[in-house]
Amino acid sequence: MDNNENVFSNSKITVTYAPRCCTNAGFCAKQLSSVFRNSVIPWIDLEGAQTDVIINQINKCPSGALKYHLNKKEVA
Ligand code: SF4
Repeated sequence: MDNNENVFSNSKITVTYAPRCCTNAGFCAKQLSSVFRNSVIPWIDLEGAQTDVIINQINKCPSGALKYHLNKKEVA
């Protein structure tokens, strides 16, 4: 079993998933199934929705298993 953190990136955002933290409540897959996919590998498809939609969903993760950072530098 792979307990390492999973990292997914596109040009705009990097998303990390820590399986040990995931409580499997399934919010992400139920609410945004175009990105968080139960039965496909890789299970996170960052092309499945707009970046702000993905961020909004990650912020709802109850366990903190999903985290993200934007790849471009923040504008001061
Ligand atoms: S929302 Fe978070 S805790 Fe729930 S299944 Fe997705 S990654 Fe796991």
